[in-house]
Amino acid sequence: MTPEMTSTNRILVVDDDAMLIGEYLRCLGEGFEPDCATSTLGDLEKVLFGEDTDENGAARFDVQSRNQGKAAVDAVRESVKVGRPYAIVFLDIRMPPGIDGIEAARQIRELDRNVNIVIVTGSLSPEPEDLGKVVPPADRIFFFKKPFHAVECRQLAAALCGKWHSDLALRRANDVLEQRVWERTEALHKLAYYDPVTHLPNRLKLLDELQLLIDASTDSNLQTAVLLLDIDRFSFLNETMGYKSGTELLGAIGKRLVRTCQDLPDAQHSIVGRFGADEFACLVPGIKDNNELEEIVERVRTSIEEPFLLRGRELYLKSSIGVAWHPVHGSDSKTVFSCAEAALHRSMRQPGRCVTWYHREMHNRALYEFDLQSELRQALENGEIITWFQPQLSLLTGKIAGVEALARWLRPDGTIVQPVDFVPLTEEMGISDLLFESVLRYVSSAVSRWKAEFNWDVPVSVNLSAHQLRNHKLVEIIQSILEKDNVEQSFLNLELTETVLLEDLTIAEPVLRDLSKYGVGIHIDDFGTGYSSLSYLADLPVQTLKIDQSFVERLTESETNAKVVQAIVALGKAMGLDVVAEGVETEQQLLMVAKYGCDLAQGFFIGKPMMETDFLAWCHAVDQTTNDLPILPALASENG
Ligand code: C2E
Ligand code: MG
Ligand code: MG
Repeated sequence: MTPEMTSTNRILVVDDDAMLIGEYLRCLGEGFEPDCATSTLGDLEKVLFGEDTDENGAARFDVQSRNQGKAAVDAVRESVKVGRPYAIVFLDIRMPPGIDGIEAARQIRELDRNVNIVIVTGSLSPEPEDLGKVVPPADRIFFFKKPFHAVECRQLAAALCGKWHSDLALRRANDVLEQRVWERTEALHKLAYYDPVTHLPNRLKLLDELQLLIDASTDSNLQTAVLLLDIDRFSFLNETMGYKSGTELLGAIGKRLVRTCQDLPDAQHSIVGRFGADEFACLVPGIKDNNELEEIVERVRTSIEEPFLLRGRELYLKSSIGVAWHPVHGSDSKTVFSCAEAALHRSMRQPGRCVTWYHREMHNRALYEFDLQSELRQALENGEIITWFQPQLSLLTGKIAGVEALARWLRPDGTIVQPVDFVPLTEEMGISDLLFESVLRYVSSAVSRWKAEFNWDVPVSVNLSAHQLRNHKLVEIIQSILEKDNVEQSFLNLELTETVLLEDLTIAEPVLRDLSKYGVGIHIDDFGTGYSSLSYLADLPVQTLKIDQSFVERLTESETNAKVVQAIVALGKAMGLDVVAEGVETEQQLLMVAKYGCDLAQGFFIGKPMMETDFLAWCHAVDQTTNDLPILPALASENG
């Protein structure tokens, strides 16, 4: 409650004529008996003042008096100071030897902008309009003609006190309204520029902030970097831990990044924000050189890899990071951000996930992909996407025991586009289903031909993209394609990378069960690059683990690498799974993976991916000259 709210009808009467003061006190005092009894006055006062009236319905006025202008000004100053302002000041116009009523009014107005000032005068000059200008506002200054009638005076006092109270109520309502408008504006501003989950600046705000940092740095030689981070596996965590924990985790990541940025050289101007669903941005100004930037990126990256404690559980995260910086990659915030996004995009596509530094080549690459995108849909419809086959060798029998189908885009000009260049595009364009169906149709017809022509039964593996797991009709589609060629489902294996599987485990699990029930095999591709925890692998209907080729490649490098492969094999075996070694390029690698107990091997040393005619010729040659195939004697001696 403000002090003002406690004020009653306080009136100050100012006149150098003691008689007149007496008259004021009489007519404004309690128990005043109007000479001509009028009930209208009582009624008016009752309406205006409610409880502030006496038992007869007459208003109660708290009247004080002064006999000089200066004393009146002092009284008003004091009344404001103690929070008990006057509703009305009746001011005589001439009060020698002190200041006149007009001057007193001017000074009073400076002290109290709400009080109603009544200039009590025997003449009518200055003109009333002028007075409003001299002591504004015009609606709070009045003339009252002397000599006045007591009832007139009381009526005026009652009306002006009523006005003073309603002005006060109006001001309060306005204050509340203004406060509310301010709060709403603030809330809207927050909504528009801040992320409600982490309370960090959002994308829009980050763009503005980066521009400000860039503008502030133009005269210096310092760089301003944008680090964009995407949290690996976030959707998986969100689905498995529940939305609430996911939200908590986002908050914790935001805080962690803020803390990390507080230790940077220009911590004061560094900004952390949430750029998208599981994407964060760090804006780092004041960077001297690339070494410093590298160090900063490394700090940010490792800070995310420190465990997070969430509801009593330790969580380990990884991030993909894209980095771009001003002025090298752009002179405005939009350009620099789009470069950082391109770099992030590249990072996210890399199997190991990592830091990618923007470089100009990426721009050309983006243009190239843009061209490819426009042709890709047509290419799928025109049958330009073909399937190559790569053999898988049984390390037990030395025979071809499986085949992987790998897509290739054969463009009309004869150039071949590798899957790494167009498979991700099909995902981004939402046409990965078309790719999958086209490869499966090719595979299905090939398997049926091979069976008919050579009575050859060998299972073929087809790669699945993440998106396929969201297709509710997946089993139906597979079934209709295989049935059309009369191919049994046991001849089809589906390869799913570990990362894809984990990103969407809750979605993947029922789909995998349906597929398995239908009778196709499920293989985990690129095993070891993700975060497979055995506990849920054991629960999934998986038959085979394909050890990622990076492990096979480093096999001979050190004892530790060899031990990792041995451990993966042991793990697969313990779970009753077959293990395939991918990317076998040398005889030594082949012998090692055979020794460690892998069931199958796939790689250039055995055979590269080939188009169907070449593949069949290759199989034929192997069949004819089994013992001449360089790999087989080596294996035989190893086994024997
Ligand atoms: P992936 O499924 O892990 O396939 C194995 C990749 O390793 C193939 O690359 C294969 O050519 C290559 N490779 C095999 N042996 C060796 C070796 O000894 N050394 C080396 N350095 N590489 C070897 P490719 O054909 O370029 O395919 C790359 C990836 O593209 C595949 O990895 C798969 O994830 C994806 N992909 C290919 N075809 C399809 C498809 O039809 N659909 C989907 N969704 N993805 C596909
Ligand atoms: Mg594969
Ligand atoms: Mg693989």
